[in-house]
Amino acid sequence: MKILVITEQRQGKWNNTSFETLVAAQQIVAATSGAVSAAVIGNGVATLAEELASKNVAEVLLVEHDLLESYTPDGYGVALKQVIEAVKPELVLFPHTYQVRDFAPKLAASLGKGMIGDCVGFRSEGGKLVFVRQMFQGKTAADVTFTGAAPWFVSFQSGAFRADLLAAHPGGKAPVNAAKVALNAGDIRTKPLELFKEAKSAVDLTQAPLIVAIGRGIKAPENIAQAEALAKALGAEIAASRPICDEGWLPMERQIGSSGQTVAPKLYLALGISGAIQHVVGMKGSRTIVAVNKDQNAPIFEIADYGIVGDIFEIMPALTEELQKAKW
Ligand SMILES: Cc1cc2nc3c(=O)[nH]c(=O)nc-3n(C[C@H](O)[C@H](O)[C@H](O)COP(=O)(O)OP(=O)(O)OC[C@H]3O[C@@H](n4cnc5c(N)ncnc54)[C@H](O)[C@@H]3O)c2cc1C
Repeated sequence: MKILVITEQRQGKWNNTSFETLVAAQQIVAATSGAVSAAVIGNGVATLAEELASKNVAEVLLVEHDLLESYTPDGYGVALKQVIEAVKPELVLFPHTYQVRDFAPKLAASLGKGMIGDCVGFRSEGGKLVFVRQMFQGKTAADVTFTGAAPWFVSFQSGAFRADLLAAHPGGKAPVNAAKVALNAGDIRTKPLELFKEAKSAVDLTQAPLIVAIGRGIKAPENIAQAEALAKALGAEIAASRPICDEGWLPMERQIGSSGQTVAPKLYLALGISGAIQHVVGMKGSRTIVAVNKDQNAPIFEIADYGIVGDIFEIMPALTEELQKAKW
């Protein structure tokens, strides 16, 4: 199977989900056959293309144009349509980023194709690729496959594959080939303004040996004091899943996961956290994971070393009390 991975960079910096998607592509090729090419799109991104060429890919396509300096859905859509028509891949893979969500469905539609977005895995069944998507916040998974002719478009969720498994190029370097694209200013109907910059983290949770993390199971901001009391009794830092920080119940710098911090403490106590892949990717390296969740089927139990199926509002005060007694 001929696979083309569309990588993502912004202002010369990689979006790391690109490498995870390359690992997905390598695994698909290992399960089927074929070759993986990778495209780098932008302007002045030749250095990134050279860097990519040291990975295990058959070819790197350098898609450069003045009008691709800043991301626009029109610019990317028009340019990548030409690349796909020229290269004729069977499978086009994307990292499931905000940017990809913006342009990839439009790109697929411009070629008369559909797209399976936000996948977490794949299987090869009788020569046919089946993609797995989570539904209902990870409570169930759907198997999805393509009908109709290639090219097929798929995006993989951040954290679904491990970027550190990306193999180096066996011969040292893959060829980097320029992909010529024709773009006119009139093709682009939007004007990018200044990039949104995320606030810099003030708390470095990566160095914390003990972390007490809360999820949506905490239910209301006034209940966070109970988790903080437990964290204090343990001498731990408090952290959270994304919805807690999105709500503003804890500052963003306390967020663990693919769009937050990646931590590896000695102990990670997960309270009322379901274990969505984007959370797990930020804490699965913890030495010991203890999870408390009232749903025995919560995905967090798949990676927990110790699991308590129970109500955090019973467990938190009981644990705090025991810890305080033990410190006596
Ligand atoms: C691009 C992208 C990036 C993302 N990045 C991140 C990220 O960096 N970090 C992150 O965390 N998420 C991230 N997410 C969101 C992620 O997909 C999940 O939605 C999120 O992790 C869910 O948070 P949660 O586990 O707290 O909430 P839920 O999934 O709602 O889970 C709450 C859990 O609490 C349990 N519960 C409820 N009440 C109790 C109780 N009384 N006692 C015990 N258990 C209870 C429930 O059984 C449930 O399992 C991202 C999503 C996307 C699309």
